[in-house]
Amino acid sequence: MTACDVLIIGAGMAGAGLAAALPAELRVTLLEAEDTPGYHATGRSAAFWHETLGGPHVRALTRASYGALDAGGFLTPRKSFEVAEADDLAKLDTLERQFAGTGVRLDRVDRAGLLALVPRAAPVLVGGLVEVDGADIDVAAVHAAALGLARRNGASLVTGARVDRIAREDGRWRVEAGGRVFAADILVDAAGAWADAIARMAGVAPLGIVPKRRTMVQVRVDSADVPADLPLVMDIAGRYYFRPVDAQRLWLCPHDETPVEPHDVAPEEIDVATAIYQFERVTDWRVAAVERKWAGLRSFASDRLPVIGFAADVPGFFWLAGQGGVGIQTAPAASALAAALITRRDPEMPGVDPERYDPARFAVT
Ligand SMILES: Cc1cc2nc3c(=O)[nH]c(=O)nc-3n(C[C@H](O)[C@H](O)[C@H](O)COP(=O)(O)OP(=O)(O)OC[C@H]3O[C@@H](n4cnc5c(N)ncnc54)[C@H](O)[C@@H]3O)c2cc1C
Repeated sequence: MTACDVLIIGAGMAGAGLAAALPAELRVTLLEAEDTPGYHATGRSAAFWHETLGGPHVRALTRASYGALDAGGFLTPRKSFEVAEADDLAKLDTLERQFAGTGVRLDRVDRAGLLALVPRAAPVLVGGLVEVDGADIDVAAVHAAALGLARRNGASLVTGARVDRIAREDGRWRVEAGGRVFAADILVDAAGAWADAIARMAGVAPLGIVPKRRTMVQVRVDSADVPADLPLVMDIAGRYYFRPVDAQRLWLCPHDETPVEPHDVAPEEIDVATAIYQFERVTDWRVAAVERKWAGLRSFASDRLPVIGFAADVPGFFWLAGQGGVGIQTAPAASALAAALITRRDPEMPGVDPERYDPARFAVT
């Protein structure tokens, strides 16, 4: 039996980030079902950092993560651009009002300003709101750096170790995974789409965390004139987004959010077709080839905020789940908060209110 202080289930961004943030004095083990950590949501993201995504409590974690992501060299500036058709211009006003006074730099542009950023925009796009300080995230590097730091701190990573039995014995956890047995004082549920399944296995009440499929399509277009500084272009009405890869390639997303059971999810043809249809409707690029397509699961609690904290109903069970579509851009702050709560330290994170993410918010009264 392998004994540890903190046993983390899941070595995606959440589990890896936490393992890196915990103090080296603790014996930490990361259990990952797959042979490759990052195989699920973490390895399938759109790799973007922007503050206009999610409400104020997502933004608090996003903003608090910027320093670490930037210092690590993981960010490359890229504007994020909410675009609108004539019927949706009022939505731009709402978004602009929502972020007034928050320090998020937003520029309103008309059709001419839009064409300066998206030269091949179709006439249907009439204006937009630019988030000036968005950035691409090198997700593989952030994830690898977290795993590397965790290892240097003495944590062990066990891959191919799917947890299939969890019991609580004499005030400790006994966990069976990959034919081995682990004992721990604290069990962390960083299992992404499987977070509720792990909770059930541990006798903890599930929180209703729902995995939702999201599709990405890499296309080659008919001409090699995709600007290197093309923003992440998002429909303010939520029908699509797209971003450049290189001069002739983009990633398209149909902004799908289909609830599914947790599994190794694959894209559906209807979502791939929708992504291409929307892209060709709002630009005059034409898709010459679909080069890659994939889907991943973004897992949400009912209020779409991450769940970070000890379970209210069973001692020693810690939730680090429900990161939805922001689990990379919020990872440094979420990891630091989780590590502080696990070690009973004051998180000392200005602007971040730990109670907002506390699983106790779902407690039945
Ligand atoms: C298409 C798409 C686009 C996205 N774009 C962005 C973006 O631009 N910016 C951003 O910040 N975020 C984005 N996200 C969200 C981000 O990818 C996720 O929030 C983040 O990766 C979640 O990390 P995680 O570690 O919780 O989950 P995962 O990476 O899914 O890791 C959970 C791990 O737990 C393991 N596990 C599950 N059950 C068990 C078990 N029984 N035993 C052992 N291990 C188990 C799984 O194998 C998995 O590796 C996007 C997501 C998708 C799908």
